[in-house]
Parts: sequence; C-alpha cells; structure tokens
Amino acid sequence: AKLSKEPERMFKVVLAGDAAVGKSSLIMRLCKGKFLENLSSTLGVDFQTKMIELDGRTVALQLWDTAGQERFRSIAKSYFRRADGVLLLYDCTYERSFMSIREWMDSIESSQDGSTKKLPIMLCANKTDMRMETEQQGRKVVTYEDGQRLAREYGALFIETSAKDGTNVGECVSELARLMRANE
Ligand code: GDP
Repeated sequence: AKLSKEPERMFKVVLAGDAAVGKSSLIMRLCKGKFLENLSSTLGVDFQTKMIELDGRTVALQLWDTAGQERFRSIAKSYFRRADGVLLLYDCTYERSFMSIREWMDSIESSQDGSTKKLPIMLCANKTDMRMETEQQGRKVVTYEDGQRLAREYGALFIETSAKDGTNVGECVSELARLMRANE
C-alpha cells in the first residue's frame, strides 16, 4: 500500500471514555504498533496522526487524546465540537466504565448544538484480552450483547478491541473513517 502519498482527506477523531480504559494505549498500538503496561498518562502531545487506506485512497486521521482530562466534561465538550468522529471506550472488565457511557454519549450529543449532522461514534469495548480471565476470577464483565445494545440505542457503531494484543484496533478506526466519510 502506498500510504506515503498526500492524504486526500483529514479527519479529527477524539478519544473519549473514563480514565484507564485504554485510550492512550489504543493510540499507541495504532500509531506505534506497541503496547506498554505502564504508559505514562500524558503522551506530551495533543494528537497523533495515522494514515490509513480506505478503498484505495489515503486518509489521515488525527487522533486526539483527552489526556487525563476525562473528569472535566466541559473541556471534553470543546474537543467534541471540533471532531469529525469519536472513539468512545470502556473497559469490558470494569463495569463502572461501561456505566459512564451514557454520560459520555450525552455530553457528546450536547456538544453538537446547532449541528444538523450526527457525529459518528464508534463505541469500543476495550481489554477483551482480559475478559475470560476476569470472568474466571468470578468478577463481573460487560458482555458483547450489553455493548452492542447500548451502541444501537445511541445509533453508534460497536466493536470489541484489545490495545494489548491488537484485536480490531485497525478495524475500529477504519470503520469509523468509513462512516465519517459517508457523513460529509
Ligand atoms: P487511558 O487513561 O484511557 O488513556 O488508559 P491507558 O491507555 O493509560 O491504559 C490504562 C491501563 O490499562 C494501562 O496499564 C494499560 O497498560 C492498560 N491497558 C490498556 N489497554 C489494554 C488492553 O487492551 N488490555 C489490557 N490487558 N490492558 C490494557
């Protein structure tokens, strides 16, 4: 694939979701092909760029991390206002992060005042590599069906990912990119 050519389009993608669900790790996996157990919470930059090929065309994705500002929903809203799409993550081994998804969906929605277009959202159930082990330990997990149902309710896409083993990391952004392009 000739990805060095000039991108024909650039999309801004904002990563959202509670602290520690794996936003920085997903960006790291996607852009650097690595996983670090102890990723420092700030990458030191606002965004990373990833070039992808979509139906033979090069598209640049600017991936914006909310960098530890998850608690400040008002800041997150200003990010959403400038976004072409959102990757909204929860940790499928930590139910609390799934319970927050409705609040995240609501702040995304309310950031779009005055816009007639619907902002494309990909809901990602991250850390799927840990789910079986977590279940075996007798701890509660979030099932595929739970995630899919919630995504459908908000008209969002849904995918299960692992920043650790790389499962669906490329797919989550390419599917979102497809929707962002269709949304133009
Ligand atoms: P953020 O606060 O949402 O940016 O989350 P981080 O990317 O900093 O990840 C929080 C912790 O979860 C770190 O210790 C990561 O190594 C770990 N982590 C992130 N993604 C995964 C994953 O897919 N699988 C596993 N097992 N651990 C992950």
